[in-house]
Amino acid sequence: MPHTDCIIIGSGIAGLATALRLRQAGFSVTILERERIGREASWAGGGILCPLYAWRYPEPVMRLAAAGMARYPAFISELLDTQTTDPEFFTSGMLILDPVDNAHDANAISAWAEQYTYPHQWQAAEDHFPHLPHDNSLWLPQINTVRNPRLLRALIEAARQADVTILEYQPARELRVAQQRVIGVRCDSATHHAEHVIVTAGAWSGSLVPGLSPAHIFPIRGQMIRFDTAPPAGLKTILLDEGIYLIPRQDGSVVVGSTVEHVGFDKHNTEEAIHHLHRKAVELWPNLAHTPIAQQWSGLRPGTQDE
Ligand SMILES: Cc1cc2nc3c(=O)[nH]c(=O)nc-3n(C[C@H](O)[C@H](O)[C@H](O)COP(=O)(O)OP(=O)(O)OC[C@H]3O[C@@H](n4cnc5c(N)ncnc54)[C@H](O)[C@@H]3O)c2cc1C
Repeated sequence: MPHTDCIIIGSGIAGLATALRLRQAGFSVTILERERIGREASWAGGGILCPLYAWRYPEPVMRLAAAGMARYPAFISELLDTQTTDPEFFTSGMLILDPVDNAHDANAISAWAEQYTYPHQWQAAEDHFPHLPHDNSLWLPQINTVRNPRLLRALIEAARQADVTILEYQPARELRVAQQRVIGVRCDSATHHAEHVIVTAGAWSGSLVPGLSPAHIFPIRGQMIRFDTAPPAGLKTILLDEGIYLIPRQDGSVVVGSTVEHVGFDKHNTEEAIHHLHRKAVELWPNLAHTPIAQQWSGLRPGTQDE
């Protein structure tokens, strides 16, 4: 019966970052991962370090997002100091072509930006991008991005270096409870005991935590595509319109996402979604019209009822 101070269930960004901090605080840590390490939502994501249309979220989410953004540069520096993989953190800025909706006019959005100290500017998109006739666009110059698979690789390296025990292909089946305390986790081949058990199982968390169910935390599929362009597509900033974004990568490629689909734990790509992403990508950045799609994938975001 293996024993450790902390068991973390799930090896996405939440699990890996938590493991690292707990090790740094002196705890022994074991991560149980049901599949391969770090291959779910945290791998699939676009890496925009700010919620899309952030002012539309409830206040606690806005505060959390702003606090997270403020901490990211130091977090990345720490990884760069110790790891060989560069997560490609950079300040791309984000131009939002359709910021205003029925609930938030430009004044409300400016008030949000000032409250959370996001530098911002209202502008006509066509001043910079003549093919985009949006005269009330919002430019957020300080928005950062990372390249998710690289960030995860750096975190996995850091966790291993810090002596976090990582057990792949070990699905947690059930939390073991005694006297109203969680004392461990039952897997197929063993029960692991720990003082503390932390569930960071993303979209799967609802079936593990007593009192929660998949109705409380559920998967939201997002499909993505990537264009590898040579010469580079020339896109320097994130463009966002109608919920679809184009993200420039430092090697000149462009990632386009994402759909928002309630289809259970199904990670297939669909022709319809890929076509939609492609059409929107070409509308926003016509240079992509003759570039084939280099890669397509999807991931399952953890969704909750209170979104
Ligand atoms: C297409 C897409 C685009 C996105 N774009 C962005 C973006 O631009 N910016 C942004 O901030 N966010 C974005 N997100 C959301 C973001 O990726 C997720 O919110 C975040 O990665 C969730 O991290 P996590 O660690 O909670 O979950 P995950 O990365 O899903 O990790 C959970 C892990 O738990 C494991 N697990 C599950 N059940 C068990 C079990 N029983 N036993 C052991 N292990 C288990 C899983 O296998 C998985 O490895 C995007 C998501 C998607 C899908």
